[in-house]
Amino acid sequence: MEKEIEKRTQALRDSEEYLASIVATVREGLIVLDSDMRVTGANDHFLRTFRVTKEETIGIPLWELGNRQWDIPKLRELIEDVLPTSNPVENFEVEHDFPRIGKKLMLLNAHRIELEGQYKDRILIALEDITERREIERRKDDFLSIASHELKTPLTTIHGYVQMMNRTVPADASDKFRSFLEKTGAYVSRLNDLILELLDVSRIQSGNIEIHKEPFDFDKAVHEAAEGIRAANSGYTIAVKGKTGVYFNGDESHIVQVINNLLANAIKYSPDNKDVEVILSVLSGYLKVSVTDQGLGISQEDQRKIFDRFYRAGEIQKRYPGMGIGLYICDQIIKNHGGTMWVDSEKGKGSTFNFTLPLTEQMKNEY
Ligand code: ADP
Repeated sequence: MEKEIEKRTQALRDSEEYLASIVATVREGLIVLDSDMRVTGANDHFLRTFRVTKEETIGIPLWELGNRQWDIPKLRELIEDVLPTSNPVENFEVEHDFPRIGKKLMLLNAHRIELEGQYKDRILIALEDITERREIERRKDDFLSIASHELKTPLTTIHGYVQMMNRTVPADASDKFRSFLEKTGAYVSRLNDLILELLDVSRIQSGNIEIHKEPFDFDKAVHEAAEGIRAANSGYTIAVKGKTGVYFNGDESHIVQVINNLLANAIKYSPDNKDVEVILSVLSGYLKVSVTDQGLGISQEDQRKIFDRFYRAGEIQKRYPGMGIGLYICDQIIKNHGGTMWVDSEKGKGSTFNFTLPLTEQMKNEY
């Protein structure tokens, strides 16, 4: 019996030491709270970041730390909820003028912790200073916006000249010349599409995207988009099944852009199986579109990130050209129309991209 107690005490000490060594090494500020929201532990990184001492921190309720700097109503509500509900606080941004370190943007995560039944009611809070990262992101956005605007103007001119050259090709021009001209036109178009994508991103970032809503025949728009993609990708079958039967009140060109993007991705990421299916349906107040391919599929981990700007999944994707912004734009367009977009997929087993858009009574009766 004694031996058993000794063994368990040792195991506990081991786990405590193990935990302490992790806490000391991580590069995030960590604090632990008890059920009264008093700080029971803080790592060196936390103390250094906020330029405080252990004495100023340990044993003090979180809300009373450093001039009550953490006493933010929304944060308080979330953290006080962690123990009763076991709901973690995820990526809560705290922007604050901290007494000793000035204005900072902190990313806060809080989780309930339990160590082999020993410390039941404890909350671990991790804090990361993202002030600099956010500033770099902002500068990157500004750069992108300026660069894409500056590139667009000369490219539009080149595009115009290529079109004029196409119209004035001499009758005796060689096949070689005609083929060069055709290729120049195709690459200028490709470049134009890329720049338009970048411009879309910077417009979304600055909140300057304009939506022109007008009722349009939704199913017809989808069929036409599928036809266009079919024509450009012989060898692939794109079946459109079902119908919504509505005149949707939205920005047709934006919605068509979403369908085109999903279809283009379905093709791009399905090098071996060439069957793509689009299913249209209406379910209680929403229209739903699903685009299914039998291609590479997407891992669970990547599924959470592919709608982020510039995110491209996995190594294999490096073989396929792209900037990782198409889905970000699609998601934003659908959100702008009050809808939702998501993906169902399994690596190696294809993907289904879905979106729903809310219908008004009037749209349902249009047909
Ligand atoms: P891009 O295709 O230019 O990389 P997107 O934003 O359209 O940008 O897509 C982001 C990432 O999501 C892609 O790089 C790819 O990894 C993944 N993805 C998108 N569509 C599919 C699909 N149908 N099948 C597998 N992966 C996909």
